[in-house]
Amino acid sequence: MHLREARAYKIKHSYDVGDLITRYQWILQLAIDYIWENIIWVEKEVRNYYTVPKTEKNVKLLKHRGKKFKVYGGKIYVYYTAKRRIPRIPSSAEFRRRLRDYLQAFWKQTPYASHYVDSAIRTAYWILESWRENYLNGKFKRRKPTIKSRFARIKNSLFRVRDGELILTVVPRQVYLKFRINKAWFYDRIKGWKLGEIILKDNELILMFTREKEEEELDRVIGWDMNMFTMDGFGDDIGAVKKSIRELYRIHITYHNKRRKIQKMLNRNPKQARRLLKKLSKREADKVRDFIYKFTTEIAREFPNYVHVFEDLNKEAMYNRSKKHNRNIALHDWRKIVEILKYKTKVIEIDPKFTTKTCSRCGSLNTTVKNGTVKCLDCGLEIDRQLNASINIYLKGKGLEPSLETWNKLIKTKDVGSFGVPLNGAELDDVSPMNPEGNEGNVAQGEVG
Ligand SMILES: [Zn+2]
Repeated sequence: MHLREARAYKIKHSYDVGDLITRYQWILQLAIDYIWENIIWVEKEVRNYYTVPKTEKNVKLLKHRGKKFKVYGGKIYVYYTAKRRIPRIPSSAEFRRRLRDYLQAFWKQTPYASHYVDSAIRTAYWILESWRENYLNGKFKRRKPTIKSRFARIKNSLFRVRDGELILTVVPRQVYLKFRINKAWFYDRIKGWKLGEIILKDNELILMFTREKEEEELDRVIGWDMNMFTMDGFGDDIGAVKKSIRELYRIHITYHNKRRKIQKMLNRNPKQARRLLKKLSKREADKVRDFIYKFTTEIAREFPNYVHVFEDLNKEAMYNRSKKHNRNIALHDWRKIVEILKYKTKVIEIDPKFTTKTCSRCGSLNTTVKNGTVKCLDCGLEIDRQLNASINIYLKGKGLEPSLETWNKLIKTKDVGSFGVPLNGAELDDVSPMNPEGNEGNVAQGEVG
C-alpha cells in the first residue's frame, strides 16, 4: 500500500509576476467555463438513508411498509432512493485537445510559456472534480466555480532544479525566475523528496515536496488525546481505544476535601495545620506518582512497538488558556504521564494546533464542536470529539494530512464505532458505519424483499 507524504514550504520573493498571475487566472477561468459548458447532466437514482430510533414499533412499521432498512448501534437506517442530476465532466483526449487549442489561441497573445495552459487545464479539472465531489455530497449548489484568489499553479515542465537552484520559466529563453533553494532553511528536511508542484503567488512561492511511503516502512503509531477522565487513543491495527485515568481525578478530589477540613483549623492551630497540609500534599503527590508509574507501565506493555503520539502539552496551554483549576491540575498530570512514558517507550510530541477542530476525514476547519461531537460542515462527518482529536494526533504523528483518501485507507477500515455517519447523498456502498469490517455478526439484517 502506498501513501503519499507531502510537505509544503514557502519562499518569499520580490519578482514582479503580477501580469503573469492575472493572465493565468483569466485562462484558468476560461478553462473552467469551457469544461462547465460541456458537462453532461445525467438523471440517476441515488440511494440515501435517514435514521430513526431503534424500537420494536419502528421495526414493525417499516416492515409493514416494505421499507429497506438495517439496524445498527441503537439506530435504524432506513434507505430510500431519490432522483438526482449527476454531472459527467468531459475528459476524453479528444475533448482535452479541443480545450487546449481553444485556450492556446488566447494564450498565444501573451509572451508566456505555452506550458502554463497545460497547468491551467489540470488545475481547472482539479477544481471541477472537487466541486463535483462536494456537489454530490450535497454541500455545493449547481453553480460554476469562479477563481478568486491570485495564484499560478506550475507543472514540472516549467521548472528545473540544477545545483540547488530552482529555475522557473516565465518567458521561454528570456525571463526566468531563480531561487537558491539549497540556501533555504528547509533544504535539509527535503533530502530524498521530490519537488512535485509549485504555486506562484504575488510575493511568495509555495513548494510542494512529496514522497511515497510503503506502509511497512511506517512505524506503528498510536495517537493519544488527553482528557479529564480518559486517555483516548487511535492507532494502527487497533483503531480506537480508551484508557481510564479517572483514578487521578479521584485522588485530587479526596485530598482537596481533606485539605479543606484542615484549613478550618488554620486559625486555631496554625503550626500544626501547616504541617498537616504539607504532609497531605506530599501524600497526594505520592499517590498520583504511583498511579502514573503503574499506568504508563501498562500502556507501554499493552502497546509495544508503537510510537505514542501526544500533543505538546506545553504548547497546549497557549491554545487553551483555560483558567479552570481542575484543568490545570489535569494538565500537570498529563505532562507527567508523557514524561514518564518517555522512559518506557517511544514517544513523540506534535503541535496541538487545531487537533480538536479539524475534521479528521476531510481536513476542513469548517466544523462545529458541541456536546462532545464534532460536525464537519464540509463533508458531513459527525464524530465523537475525543475520537476526532485522537485521529488527528495519530495522523500528525504519521506525518499525514487528513484527506478522504487517507480516511478510506487508514481510518474507515478500523472500528470507529457508529461515528463517521456519512453525508447526504452517499451511495449505499459508502455507508461504512453500518458494517465497518465487513463483519455481519453484530449487524441485524432487516431487509424485506
Ligand atoms: Zn470533513
